[in-house]
Amino acid sequence: MAVRETDKLGVAHDATDDEIKKAYRKNALKHHPDKGGDPELFKDLTLAYEVLSDSNKRAIYDQGGKAALEGGGGMGGGMDPQDLFSQLFGGGGGFFGGGGASRNTGPRRGKDLVHRIGVSLEDLYKGKVQKLALSKSVICKTCEGRGGKKGAVKQCTACRGQGVRVILRQLGPMMQQIQQPCNECEGTGEVMDPKDRCKSCNGKKTISERKVLEVHIDKGMKSGQQIKFPGESDQSPGVIPGDVVIVLEEKPHTRFQRKGDDLFCETEVDLLTALAGGEFSIEHLDDRALHVTIVPGEVIKPGALKVISGQGMPSYRHHEPGDLYVRIGVNFPPTIEPTAIPLLESALPPRQVVQKFGKKVHVEEVLLEEPNDRQRKNAHNGDEMDEDEEEHRGVQCAQRE
Ligand SMILES: [Zn+2]
Ligand SMILES: [Zn+2]
Repeated sequence: MAVRETDKLGVAHDATDDEIKKAYRKNALKHHPDKGGDPELFKDLTLAYEVLSDSNKRAIYDQGGKAALEGGGGMGGGMDPQDLFSQLFGGGGGFFGGGGASRNTGPRRGKDLVHRIGVSLEDLYKGKVQKLALSKSVICKTCEGRGGKKGAVKQCTACRGQGVRVILRQLGPMMQQIQQPCNECEGTGEVMDPKDRCKSCNGKKTISERKVLEVHIDKGMKSGQQIKFPGESDQSPGVIPGDVVIVLEEKPHTRFQRKGDDLFCETEVDLLTALAGGEFSIEHLDDRALHVTIVPGEVIKPGALKVISGQGMPSYRHHEPGDLYVRIGVNFPPTIEPTAIPLLESALPPRQVVQKFGKKVHVEEVLLEEPNDRQRKNAHNGDEMDEDEEEHRGVQCAQRE
């Protein structure tokens, strides 16, 4: 044995359990693989801690070093650290699942805090830095996370600092092992004289703090995309804090719909513009408006789909623009001055010839009316038309000709 277990943790050979625990926490936090530490070194530290923190195993080790422990303690060379851990601490599988220590890797990693934020399409188009205030638990500075005066916090003897106790329960013919929070220490694994309790955190070891995060929303980001703040989640003694994960949620837009990097919008022109040319404009997502000229002679059919290239969303990272698709509705006038009709007749193609039927068919004059509410309902019953389509009914009928 070139290196003693105590040396690995950087504590004196006769260090107390508490000193060993502290040294381990400090080292494990520093060398945890999640934090970019060397996994082998971390494993070594954990094994060292596991030996030193068990008084029986330590007694053997103190007398004869690691070799004695390996010989007498039943630890084969190729043993899984998890099995070793269970052996050393005398627990069955799952013993430490809910306690302070994780089963196979020293310090636990705290939960990630997932936070969804609604982002407007404008912000996703232009990019934005959004400030987000959240409250999180941080280690109490007054007591440095101890919860009380130095030395006042003692490991609970009833649960050996684990915060949980395993009790045996008769279940029919079987004995069941169940895990319960320790009642001596209320599951904390530690006991303390109330008068030594830290006033700042009231013995809780952590206090709630307001933290403002700057969320960089890059151009072209999409709904569901995540922005991570590593280690910014709740702090807790001996626990590696999890990440704050911001999940973007695109808010619906009144004028635009997004499909990938393309945008879709609807606009409406009057009948004269649709038939004889004119112009329209679309307010974009930044401070611009797009102006479009329809040249005379080009006819815009109701519901026509056109595209304006390069005016969609910027792609994520490369910021290459998608396209903007425009569906054009035509606003028909409700009536036309009869004296103007000859002008239309001279400009437009002639009327369709009415279908002629044979002599055996009797032609009857009828009226074309607007359907009343009941008739409208009947007409739509079982029809696939939804409300949205109903709005464009005029357009659709006109399209059918
Ligand atoms: Zn405190
Ligand atoms: Zn306890």
